[in-house]
This record gives sequence, C-alpha cells and structure tokens, in this order.
Amino acid sequence: MKQARAHAFNAHRNLTENDEVLMTSIFRDEITELDKDIEVHETTIRELMNEADQWLFEETVRADEALISEYQSNSLQVFCPICQKNLLKQEASVISCTCGVRFLFESGLERFHEILQIKVTYHETFCERILQFFTEPKPDPGFFSLSGICNDCEYMTTIVL
Ligand SMILES: [Zn+2]
Ligand SMILES: [Zn+2]
Repeated sequence: MKQARAHAFNAHRNLTENDEVLMTSIFRDEITELDKDIEVHETTIRELMNEADQWLFEETVRADEALISEYQSNSLQVFCPICQKNLLKQEASVISCTCGVRFLFESGLERFHEILQIKVTYHETFCERILQFFTEPKPDPGFFSLSGICNDCEYMTTIVL
C-alpha cells in the first residue's frame, strides 16, 4: 500500500515533471512565438514610426518651404522708383506699379531690386545727392524704360532698356 502509494506519487510526480517539461516546452515555444509576434509587431511599429517620422519630416520641410517662400515674397517689398509710394508687383516678366509704370524685365523683381540698389549705392560712393529715376515710353505700348540720373554729378544709368 505504502509502496503503491509511493509509486502512484512517483508516477504522479513523473507525470507532473513530464507535464512540467511539456508545459515548459510548450510555453517556451509559445513565448518564442510571442516573442516573434512581438518582434514582428515591434518591426511593424518601428516601420510605422519611421513612416510617420518620414511623413512628419516631409511635412515639416514642406511647411518650412511654404513659410520661407511666404517670407521671401513678403520680405521682397520693392518700392516703385518713380512714385516711391507703392510697392512694385511682378507678374511673369512684367514689373508694374499702380502709378502706371510697367517694365519688361525677364530676371524678376529680386534682380530688379538688386540692380536698383547697386546703382544707388554706386552713385552714393561719389555723390551726396539722391539718384533720381525717370521713365520713357517704349515702342511697346504700355511699357517703359527706366533710367537713373543725377543733375548734380551728371551720372546717368539705365536699369531697364
Ligand atoms: Zn509707382
Ligand atoms: Zn550725383
């Protein structure tokens, strides 16, 4: 009886041990599977995060570019050299002012402004008077040439032919 019980106990224990081994191995497999799942999930999450990061990065770049171009177009305020009151407008290769002057200028408002600045600065190096600008109608109806002149030092320059 005692032996039988011990045998049963042992058998039970063996079974339990076997079970444990089996369970452990099942668990281990499951855990490995889980780990794999987690890895897959993590990879997916990482990929999604990367995609989100990339998207966010691209969005940021786009937003920055929009801001920069907005800033540039806002910052590029060029006063009309003729009326000196209104801001010049550029549409394609036409630079115009509401006072009525229109210049055909291919290189854009920025370059137009640069050239004006260069001429004014250059004149300032040898003369204290302010360079005056004047227009002359061109054969193209509605368009004007633009020149700068100083009656004091007789400096004369053409900005738009
Ligand atoms: Zn004007
Ligand atoms: Zn001068």
